[in-house]
Amino acid sequence: KELSADVIENDEPRQVVGACFSYVEPKKPSNPSIIHVSKDVAQSVGLTEKDLNSDEFLNVFSGKSVFKETKPYAMCYAGHQFGHWAGQLGDGRAINLFEIENNNVSLMLQLKGAGKTPYSRKGDGFAVLRSSIREHLCSEAMFHLGVPTTRSLALALSGDEVLRDVLYNGNAAYEKGAIVTRVAPSFIRFGNFEIFAAREDDKNLKSLVDYTIKYYYPEISLEGKEKYLAFFETVANKTLKMIVHWQRVGFVHGVMNTDNMSIHGLTIDYGPYGWLEDYNPNWTPNTTDNEHKRYRFGNQSKIAQWNLLQLANALFPLIEEAEPLEKILNDFPIQYEVEYLKMMHDKLGFFSENEKTKESIYLLTENLQLTETDMTIFFRDLSQVKQDDTIETALEKLKDAFYNVEEVKDITKDTWLYWFTQYLSIIKHQGVTDEDRKNAMNRVNPKYVLRNYMAQLAIDEADKGDYKLLNEMYEMLLKPYDEQPEYQKWYAKRPDWARHKVGCSA
Ligand code: AMP
Ligand code: MG
Ligand code: MG
Repeated sequence: KELSADVIENDEPRQVVGACFSYVEPKKPSNPSIIHVSKDVAQSVGLTEKDLNSDEFLNVFSGKSVFKETKPYAMCYAGHQFGHWAGQLGDGRAINLFEIENNNVSLMLQLKGAGKTPYSRKGDGFAVLRSSIREHLCSEAMFHLGVPTTRSLALALSGDEVLRDVLYNGNAAYEKGAIVTRVAPSFIRFGNFEIFAAREDDKNLKSLVDYTIKYYYPEISLEGKEKYLAFFETVANKTLKMIVHWQRVGFVHGVMNTDNMSIHGLTIDYGPYGWLEDYNPNWTPNTTDNEHKRYRFGNQSKIAQWNLLQLANALFPLIEEAEPLEKILNDFPIQYEVEYLKMMHDKLGFFSENEKTKESIYLLTENLQLTETDMTIFFRDLSQVKQDDTIETALEKLKDAFYNVEEVKDITKDTWLYWFTQYLSIIKHQGVTDEDRKNAMNRVNPKYVLRNYMAQLAIDEADKGDYKLLNEMYEMLLKPYDEQPEYQKWYAKRPDWARHKVGCSA
């Protein structure tokens, strides 16, 4: 009631002016079924085992019916896509169902892929099974890795077919339609503010910012300009922390447009994302970004800063002073470097910071690029190295991380020898036992991540109606830092057939 609603109530694509959202009902699926539920999310929204097996659960989270006392809606937002202003975008295939309050936490439940909205533009409002599996599995995997993210409660099939251009063969084909129920405090993005600033709609800009602060940042108790500045600073800090986590686990978002930046600093909109396998800062999973590689792994913090600049521009009418906003933006890379280094110290098992540890980190990131080296395996196996290892025995413990061990022995031997000499010297002199260092490292270096080919295997089986692998991946990714020997086969380098394959969205 505090925000303006669109006066028209239908799903015709249009420019929606002067409103934060439009009421729209999900499209009824013809033959819905639930494929998978995250028990963890179910619990956090207060659902019991019995609820999950009810018809009501199936109906509500497939879009077949809506609770009588609720009024679903799609949000209006704009955004910068690949660095360019894109105008109005909005929830083209997402519909907010309702908000629930459980244990004093309030959460929004949203369907993704439940049909057209006024913001669908030329799209159909649907999602296919493959992209929905990728979103469902990855958002849960990220959560259990300790990365701030939106969650996924359920994955449903609509029973309807959806026409898509399958990118790798260029032909249009029908695919299974699916619906994911996403859960987050809210789905407000940077773009929700950008649209009002672009339209010089100060009234709605102010009401949305006030609303966001009141409900999601109640700890901000300042008034006037100070309040808006504090809001911006908090969002900048949260965004920074999120990016540091991405770099820690090797996650590449792939589409860091400002409409995909959550105002809560949560990872949102899992499209063509990917996981670094060989450590390559220039890698992006997004095939449409192959030329400029704007959203490559090594560029994510810079893009976050650029996106925050767009948010600053959007909030400017409420603040009217550039300097304090610029200060926060200019501090971003400085603060990022501090946090990034801290995180890397943890990954390497360094308990204190000095010139030697910093040099070791910078050298390592260079060495990892000399030959193809698996990021996840390298850091995980590095925890096995002991203080009384020799350079040879230490290197031997890392051999599974290299795609070509011979290359390491021949071409890059000297650089690794130098690095291991230094590394062994640091861990010998820091006064921490091998056991303690190993335990600390294994808490920040996951053993299991959702490698691109693994998601693909789960998708291929699910497409044939077999959800065994999907379930297995989900269970394994609940405890990514545990040894879980029963899943050992997934602790392996990407197989050769999956070398240049990447996931795609749509
Ligand atoms: P994305 O890059 O996936 O975050 O999407 C950018 C914009 O396109 C958002 O406004 C989405 O809601 C919209 N969009 C993506 N896919 C579809 C679809 N199948 N139907 C309608 N809108 C879509
Ligand atoms: Mg999006
Ligand atoms: Mg998307």
